Amino acid sequence: MSEKKHFETQAVRIQTDNSLHREHAAPIYMTSSFTFEDAEHARAMFADEVEGNIYTRFSNPNTNDFIEKLARLEGTEDGVATASGMSAMFSSMAALLQQGDHILASRSLFGSTHQILTQIFTKWGIEHTYADIDKAEMWESLIRPNTKMIFVETPSNPGLDLVDLEWLGELADHHGLILNVDNCFATPYLQKPAAYGAHLVCHSATKFIDGQGRTIGGAILGDRDLIEKVRFFARHTGPALSPFNAWLLSKSLETLPVRMEKHCENALRIAEYLEGHEELSAVKYPFLKSHPQYDLAQKQMKYGGGLITFEVKGGLERGKSFLDHLNMISLTANLGDTRTIATHPASTTHSKLTDEERLQVGITPGLVRVSVGLENVNDILEDIENALGQSKLATTVVNEL
Ligand SMILES: *Cc1c(COP(=O)(O)O)cnc(C)c1O
Repeated sequence: MSEKKHFETQAVRIQTDNSLHREHAAPIYMTSSFTFEDAEHARAMFADEVEGNIYTRFSNPNTNDFIEKLARLEGTEDGVATASGMSAMFSSMAALLQQGDHILASRSLFGSTHQILTQIFTKWGIEHTYADIDKAEMWESLIRPNTKMIFVETPSNPGLDLVDLEWLGELADHHGLILNVDNCFATPYLQKPAAYGAHLVCHSATKFIDGQGRTIGGAILGDRDLIEKVRFFARHTGPALSPFNAWLLSKSLETLPVRMEKHCENALRIAEYLEGHEELSAVKYPFLKSHPQYDLAQKQMKYGGGLITFEVKGGLERGKSFLDHLNMISLTANLGDTRTIATHPASTTHSKLTDEERLQVGITPGLVRVSVGLENVNDILEDIENALGQSKLATTVVNEL
């Protein structure tokens, strides 16, 4: 389909060729392998002389369909689909780095990405340094002769701090480094890192791409020469996405633009409503004028995204109590769902960090992260307002005892 079609049209219309049944929606190709016409065809397939699918660990019509569409939406040349976001993050690094290499990464990374850098790569002699995402001036001084890759998440989780992708793209270019961006929070609808010079863009498709809390999946998109190496790595180490999940994710991409519009509209409404609330000491959202990087957010993101954070007055106990008094909003370890989800990072995802480490990534004791869903915004606000009131009463009583 024409490259000139709009994002929404490509998201809906890109699809693998029809089968002989001329189906409208893509069928699911649940097959481990594909047949050869004869021995010569088998030889030519394995020699990469002809195109086609051999075995679902290497490729499959559904995974091809999903990844070709996502690569087009991200504006990259090629891509590899993976079974989870973490297999995407891991493969994108492990395929391209070797012993003695160094990664410069933003400090606030998804928990398991942090574990890969600190617990797994260190065993294999791959080093890393963390840079503070909002202190761009520090980054260049942290580059070493053996630095090969820069890895970032923007906006960061749960700090919602940004890094200037244009500036970072130039820095990577100047030093000949691979710029790898986890674009899970923004999705290609809000932000296209490749347009600013990112060589690789990774996703947890589990989040906004599926968007309905149904499956785990991931993707690595990027320059053809790098993706060739990632494809080799994935083919032989096996993080393949199941055809069923690829089919689900490809269908989900059809509604990504409309879902993201609504996530962002609801999130902005809630952030604006909560800003200045007497029970909160801070509200953070990239498209709030009070966000320290509001101008940058306006420059590199279409809208502010589906996540907001706020700090409940009264610290850890009040933060937990706030969650306990929610009636509708889900308490679950996910984000980017149609359903609004609240988490309390200090007592859960980031509880193993020291107080100082938590503060370095912006996690105060009363911080609550909300992944804003697609319910009517007034119902979400009512639930938040009610839980703020109830948690105030509950923690006041406790303090007086
Ligand atoms: C969830 C998430 C991941 C990990 O993805 P999985 O699909 O859970 O493996 C990586 N990065 C970010 C920013 C995430 O939110």
